[in-house]
Amino acid sequence: MNPLRTLATARAALDRGEASPAELLSLAEARNQELEAGPEPLNAFLSTRGSGVADEELAAEGPLAGVPVAVKDNICTSRFPTTCGSRILDGFRSPYDATAVRRLKAAGAGVFGKTNLDEFAMGSSTENSGFGAVRHPVDRGRVPGGSSGGSAAAVAAGVVPVALGSSTGGSVRQPASFCGVVGVKPTYGRVSRYGLVAFASSLDVIGILSRTVADAATVLEVIAGHDRFDATCQDRPVPRAGAASELDLSGVTLGVPEEYLGLGLDSGVREVFESALDEVRRAGAKVRSVSLPSTPAAIPCYYVIAPAEASSNLARYDGARYGYRTAAPDRLLDMYERSRGEGFGQEVKRRIMLGTYVLSAGYYEAYYLRAHEVRLAIARDLERVFAEGIDAIFTPTSPTPAFRIGEKLADPYEMYLADVYTVSANLAGIPAVSIPIGNLGRLPVGGQLMCPHWEEERMLGIAHRLEDVIGYVHPLDSAEPATDDAEGRPNAGVAGEEA
Ligand code: GLN
Repeated sequence: MNPLRTLATARAALDRGEASPAELLSLAEARNQELEAGPEPLNAFLSTRGSGVADEELAAEGPLAGVPVAVKDNICTSRFPTTCGSRILDGFRSPYDATAVRRLKAAGAGVFGKTNLDEFAMGSSTENSGFGAVRHPVDRGRVPGGSSGGSAAAVAAGVVPVALGSSTGGSVRQPASFCGVVGVKPTYGRVSRYGLVAFASSLDVIGILSRTVADAATVLEVIAGHDRFDATCQDRPVPRAGAASELDLSGVTLGVPEEYLGLGLDSGVREVFESALDEVRRAGAKVRSVSLPSTPAAIPCYYVIAPAEASSNLARYDGARYGYRTAAPDRLLDMYERSRGEGFGQEVKRRIMLGTYVLSAGYYEAYYLRAHEVRLAIARDLERVFAEGIDAIFTPTSPTPAFRIGEKLADPYEMYLADVYTVSANLAGIPAVSIPIGNLGRLPVGGQLMCPHWEEERMLGIAHRLEDVIGYVHPLDSAEPATDDAEGRPNAGVAGEEA
């Protein structure tokens, strides 16, 4: 078995002396090269450290000692370039490590490489990368989701057991769902954003992708906690990883929002979700239907607030300071215009224009302030449901399984709808997690849990028990014959080997 599948398998290989930390990093490189070979490369990484490693760099002790990890390329690292998947940051190298990266290293992890993403994390398919799309690890004709598509694909394909991603509207959970892995979006303020390149600062959080809930909990415990370099990062007790295995489902009430079962939900995804619900009920959890009436406003609200903040955050890429500068500009303004015109891709330009428009005089009240009211209504809806005795809201993570490369590129609104179930947690700032709950043919389907602010420990406890009762088998791990039939029967509930 691949020792890079989970933290547990990697730690076991190290403890038994079957591999050294340097050998695990070389193994990650070999696996990555294998996936890059051939006519349809995965393209999950924008940079890797190559084979071998200076062992003295890795802390010998700690929960991640000797384990290779990957980091989304909008999170700063001094050892690797940080491009945000954008030509405008081509050649940029951060002088410092993000706090989350510093903590991973202090816990003994070795950063293996930086993962591909939609440019500045704007997208749901990783097709918006300035350095080529990422392919789906199971079906190379499809997208891995986005914007943390490189991190999700790298974990699913077994290059690294865990990876950091970032979420502004769904960029950890949605690719996790498409790739059949776990994706955790912590409470806003739980993990320092210091060194996470800003997209929409009131929504952005660093998240985690892994094969198992236990691994995500371990990484969360490492990276969470107060940091004086991020004023929004709160000083609260860090969620303990061990707590994830102590929970009893019979004391848990899950709420299923009726609004989520419309909204363009694919019939196959619905079927997988409903069989997961049956399993969960059989295991003793109570399931109640709940209502989140402001749900249909979540996407429009997000697409006012996120672009507004982005248009301001992205003003700093002017050709003077970071990365790319146009050749032979005439005057200063010409340099700004051409550097930005040439450096940014289409989707980023669309967001900057949208954001500048909704913030402009006369429209500010009509759009931006309005969106803030809607954001509050969405948060209040969620609070009310939790106050009614719901421990966690359980939904499909995305309305569809992984779609085909190119399928949604012509229609940005179609692409935006990929996050219809995930943006509310970002708008409200609450924690959420996606876990794999079944497959449609060979395509993974994810289920999402959302919990009240700061309840990651309980949320991951519930996710861990769901993982047990659902017994998901990843298509890349199962011995079943390969078919690309996206319309196949769901196989939720097929018990499989545990890592
Ligand atoms: N897909 C959403 C967007 O394009 C969310 C992205 C994210 O969470 N970074 O904005």
